[in-house]
Amino acid sequence: MKVKVNKDACIGCGACAAICDEVFEINDEGLSEVKVEENKEKEEFVSVKEELQDEVRDAADSCPTGAIEVEEGQEEEEKAA
Ligand code: SF4
Repeated sequence: MKVKVNKDACIGCGACAAICDEVFEINDEGLSEVKVEENKEKEEFVSVKEELQDEVRDAADSCPTGAIEVEEGQEEEEKAA
């Protein structure tokens, strides 16, 4: 499973970080971003560890603007961050 935050849609409410602070953090601009070093500057999907996937789904469901995009896939086994 992969996730990304659409910064154009994020309003910085903090719900995602409250639900799963291992994946989401509020950056200096007050917007959420996915915590993975090599993807920090990119708007690309980031792989999610299996044990965090339920929390990421909860966060996506809880986001008031639908800014969190989840892509279910098989490659998480090899690329999990
Ligand atoms: S829950 Fe959605 S709107 Fe709120 S900080 Fe996270 S991505 Fe942004």
